[in-house]
Amino acid sequence: MELNNARYTIGGVSVHDIVREHAAPVYVYDSERIVANYHQLKDAFKGVNVKLKYACKALSNINVLKLLKTEGSGLDTVSIQEARIGLKAGFEAKEILFTPNSVGFDEIREAVNMGLAINIDELGILEQFGSEFGSSVPCCIRLNPHIMAGGNSHISVGHIDSKFGISIHQVPHIKRIVKNYGIHVNGLHMHTGSDILDADVFLRGAKLLYDAAAEFDELEFMDFGSGFKVKYKEGDVTTDIEDIGQRISASFKEFCKSYGRELELWFEPGKYIVSDAGYFLVQVNVVKQTTSTVFAGVNSGQNHLLRPMMYDAYHKITNVSNPNGPERIYSVVGYICESDTLGYDRRLTEVRIGDILAISNTGAYGFSMSSNYNSRLRPAEVLVKDGKAHLIRKREKLEDLLANQVELDI
Ligand SMILES: *Cc1c(COP(=O)(O)O)cnc(C)c1O
Repeated sequence: MELNNARYTIGGVSVHDIVREHAAPVYVYDSERIVANYHQLKDAFKGVNVKLKYACKALSNINVLKLLKTEGSGLDTVSIQEARIGLKAGFEAKEILFTPNSVGFDEIREAVNMGLAINIDELGILEQFGSEFGSSVPCCIRLNPHIMAGGNSHISVGHIDSKFGISIHQVPHIKRIVKNYGIHVNGLHMHTGSDILDADVFLRGAKLLYDAAAEFDELEFMDFGSGFKVKYKEGDVTTDIEDIGQRISASFKEFCKSYGRELELWFEPGKYIVSDAGYFLVQVNVVKQTTSTVFAGVNSGQNHLLRPMMYDAYHKITNVSNPNGPERIYSVVGYICESDTLGYDRRLTEVRIGDILAISNTGAYGFSMSSNYNSRLRPAEVLVKDGKAHLIRKREKLEDLLANQVELDI
């Protein structure tokens, strides 16, 4: 979002024009930023055959998928429904990696029938997979290297008691299953969470995967998942992509040499690709002064943006309607019957009823985690592309809330 002549724009389009046309609350995504993020990440890995599989749980609007498909991305999916949306968006089945957790074998079988690339993260499932498909269908194995990513346990999925992956200490057991059924293991995978600060954590995990790779001789790729941290506020330490790219590329080249073959290097970025491309625009309903706080109450809440409540996440908030106003301190809260604070003690330019606030970094896990709590309608989504704001999801209507309710004659 840019400020020029007291006017905020996203991708060159005036924020106020977007609100005038599509109303608030509305999620707005800047397609140019999405594309730039994709290429910045891809280009950071030099001299290796890198493939990005966009983790579409971050933002699964079909138009965003189509945009990334056009740029050459693959897809990482965690449910059959995501994979089906991926197919509809034009991805080939083999470009779609299916990385579920705790799903029944039916869903794995369906994924095989669809032709998806399969990632298995549990020994029992691996055995079933072997007994049903033998060597006829390749699979990737998700390992848990037990490294901690960042300090926030909500988004660390590599620690010892995590439900994700098969422990790296169980490689001998994996090998026995693989050998018994002749399973073709074509990749090894790890994903340790969303908060990795630097190359060191990645490289520690990578090293463990390289060691494990020596036990599998039909590998075609190594998948290091995601964990690229993005900047939420000034002063945040973020992943240095160039540094990480260089160091991982170098270590991967070494690994390929010792493995004896050039493998593909996969990543599954979600947040990194779409987070800072998204803004959530909300409108101020009330400004309420209490004994200690001034609340700005907006026409949205945790039903539309859950991250502040769920992860204690910080999202920058800007009053786009009053760029030159004096600054005051506000707590920005939602209209849900919960204490759904979107931002505590924020310095905003003076907030008046009717003002539009832009909540930054909401491209990832914003709309995709939204709900109908309090029977509120989900907002519209807009994609700014080629200097135009395109509606890519209609705002819900009351009929949508009732569509699947079965009304009895009571
Ligand atoms: C969520 C997830 C990702 C994406 O994580 P980000 O932090 O959004 O980049 C990648 N891989 C898997 C398996 C995931 O579950």
